[in-house]
Amino acid sequence: MIPGGVNSPVRAFRSVGGTPFFTKSANGARLTTADDQELVDFVLTWGPAIHGHNDPDIRAAIREALDRGTSFGTPNPLEVEMAELILSCVPAVKKVRMTNSGTEATMSAIRLARGYTGRNKIIKFSGCYHGHVDSLLVKAGSGALTQGNPDSAGVTPGTAADTLVAEYNNLPALSALFDANAGQIAGLIVEPFPANVGLILPDAGFLAGLRELCTKHGTVLIFDEVKTGITAGWGGATGVLGVQPDLIALAKSIGGGFPIGAFGGKAEYMDVITTGKVMHLGTYNGNPLVMAAARAVLSEVCTPSVTQGTAELNERLLAACNDIIVSASLPAHTVQFGAKGCITWSVNQVRNYRDYKETDFDLAFAQWIHGINRGVLLPPGLDEQWLISVMHTDAEVMHYADVFQEFVSELTH
Ligand code: PMP
Repeated sequence: MIPGGVNSPVRAFRSVGGTPFFTKSANGARLTTADDQELVDFVLTWGPAIHGHNDPDIRAAIREALDRGTSFGTPNPLEVEMAELILSCVPAVKKVRMTNSGTEATMSAIRLARGYTGRNKIIKFSGCYHGHVDSLLVKAGSGALTQGNPDSAGVTPGTAADTLVAEYNNLPALSALFDANAGQIAGLIVEPFPANVGLILPDAGFLAGLRELCTKHGTVLIFDEVKTGITAGWGGATGVLGVQPDLIALAKSIGGGFPIGAFGGKAEYMDVITTGKVMHLGTYNGNPLVMAAARAVLSEVCTPSVTQGTAELNERLLAACNDIIVSASLPAHTVQFGAKGCITWSVNQVRNYRDYKETDFDLAFAQWIHGINRGVLLPPGLDEQWLISVMHTDAEVMHYADVFQEFVSELTH
């Protein structure tokens, strides 16, 4: 009845066999599958559940909101509190609108960039995924890659023609692309740390270089922080990196597991929405249940110090994995930002989508299937990365390192 058995392709683990498993319940850092297998969850709903599963404060917040009604169709006070929280969390955001998903957030930011500048073209980077917006399903990562198709049928050639694709960490080529399309680029959208083709870190000065090029060419710089958000640290990647974009898209980790998204930024851009010149709409935007959960996340559950704790725990896991890699002389290395990490199966650092395609997918698959048979659920293959929640214990995290050691021993003996 359901195409592929799933409502989003990554859930079919298609890159590793295509048979989805079903989850019955989730608690703390663990999932219980429909056939009663318990898994320590390092996927965490593909990014949102930095708060862990079934948090009592989030549950209480939802229950309280539920008693007041599920949807009003008018502004509600929780939306204002959420706006204040986002502004305090990500100082580059001066005004913000809520959406129901990351896709809606990036889609709206792109429209805003086009409406503000009066230009048509946008630039994205190959391997970066920004949701299933037509204009962004061009050389995309993540679910699009899982399907083996980084582009998509149904995206018209006209739409695709307005999306220019550049290579991440390659400023000279980007600069040339800007020059060749002078006066035509409305916006440049980037995952500050590309996180849909493993985990790629920006070269020193790369993001500052983007900022400079965008300012020079009058192009709106959009940071897609859907995946980074508070998993990169309180303040998002923008806070960590110090480069200020014009607009930011948020979702996932700010929402307590509910359908959420937000886009915001400098007032001069967001005011084009205020005037109605650029349209942004949505029946469920700022839904009171979603806002209640999200407020609990940002104000109670994932406070700056607690969020920092996930990064520290992650650092210990990465150090343990790194020791194992080094002592076995494996062709692999670890990558981290904040609470996210991955083992990349290549000797050299992956700097762009081209490098990513050269990594060893067979070893990544072998590690995944080995782990899931020993109670460790990792994102399959190499297109995603693990996440540590505030509920993961030291023992749960180190269980992964133990299972990885076992995998490496089996691989090398
Ligand atoms: N941007 C990025 C960077 C993402 O990783 C994703 C989803 N994985 C999206 C946008 C789309 O978000 P959503 O699935 O909530 O529409």
